[in-house]
Amino acid sequence: MTLVNLSTVLKQAMQQGCAVGCFNMVDINSLEAIINGAVKLNSPVIVSVAEIHFPYVDIEKYSSVICHLANQASVPVVLHLDHGQTLDAIMKAMRHGFTSVMFDGSQLPLEENIARTTEIVRFAHAVGVSVEAELGHVGGAEGQSEVGDYDTGLLTDPLQAAAFVRSTGVDALAVAVGSAHGVYKRKPQLDFQRLTRIKELTDVPLVLHGGSGISDEDFRQSIACGIHKINVYTDLSLQANKAIKEALNENPGLAYPDIKAVARQAMEKVVMEKIKVFAAG
Ligand SMILES: [Zn+2]
Repeated sequence: MTLVNLSTVLKQAMQQGCAVGCFNMVDINSLEAIINGAVKLNSPVIVSVAEIHFPYVDIEKYSSVICHLANQASVPVVLHLDHGQTLDAIMKAMRHGFTSVMFDGSQLPLEENIARTTEIVRFAHAVGVSVEAELGHVGGAEGQSEVGDYDTGLLTDPLQAAAFVRSTGVDALAVAVGSAHGVYKRKPQLDFQRLTRIKELTDVPLVLHGGSGISDEDFRQSIACGIHKINVYTDLSLQANKAIKEALNENPGLAYPDIKAVARQAMEKVVMEKIKVFAAG
C-alpha cells in the first residue's frame, strides 16, 4: 500500500458514514504503535506530526524512515502535518513526503486566515497534497496534554464556515464545537446542533480535535453530524505513561527495549479501541 492523501481516505469515510482516526506520533515507537494498530484492524489511518512536536520528531532527519514504514503498511496511510502554523513548517512537510497538511490560522483575524489558507491550498494542491484548516478556535494547546486547561475556545460560526470553505478550497475543516485539547477537567459538552448546521452549509469532511476524553456515544453522534476525521493524542501519551509506571513498579530493573515495548503496546491498544469506535460510525 502506498501513502495516500487526506482527501482520498476522507471521501471514502464520508461515503461509508464513518471517521478515520488521526494519531500523533512523537517518535518511531509511537509511529509503529499507530501503524500496527491500523494494520491489525485492516483500517486506513492518519499519522500526524504536530509542528509543536518538531523538537521530538525532526522530519528532515526521519522522513525517509517514516515514509518507508508508512509505505510498507498493508493499509492506506496518510502522513499529515498537525497544526502547522508557519509556511516554513508546511513547506518542510510537503518537501519531505507528507501527503496532507493542516494550516492552523484559527488565531488570526478571519480575513488573514482566509488569505493564508487560500495561498497554502494553491501550493499544496499543485503537488497533490490535501489541506485541513481551522475556523473558530479549539481550546487548549495541542501537544500539551499534562497541562491542559479546560477551555473550549471560540466556537465555529456555521455561516462563516460555509464562506470560508468556498473561498479557500480546503479539503477538510477543523471545527470548534466544544471539544478541547489536553485533559478535560469536566465532561465535554459538544454542540451537535451547531455541527449539523455546519455540515448542512459546507460540503467538506469536518474534523474533531481533542478526541481524548470524549465518550463513544458522543463520537458516534459527531460522526452522524459530519465529523469524518478525529484527532487523538493525549490518550496515547497518558496510557503509555501509565503502562511504563506500572511495569517499572513491578520490575524496577526493566530494560530499556522492554520499557519501549510496554509503551508501544499501550499506545497500540488505544489506537485500536478508537479505530473500532470511529469505523462503526
Ligand atoms: Zn488539534
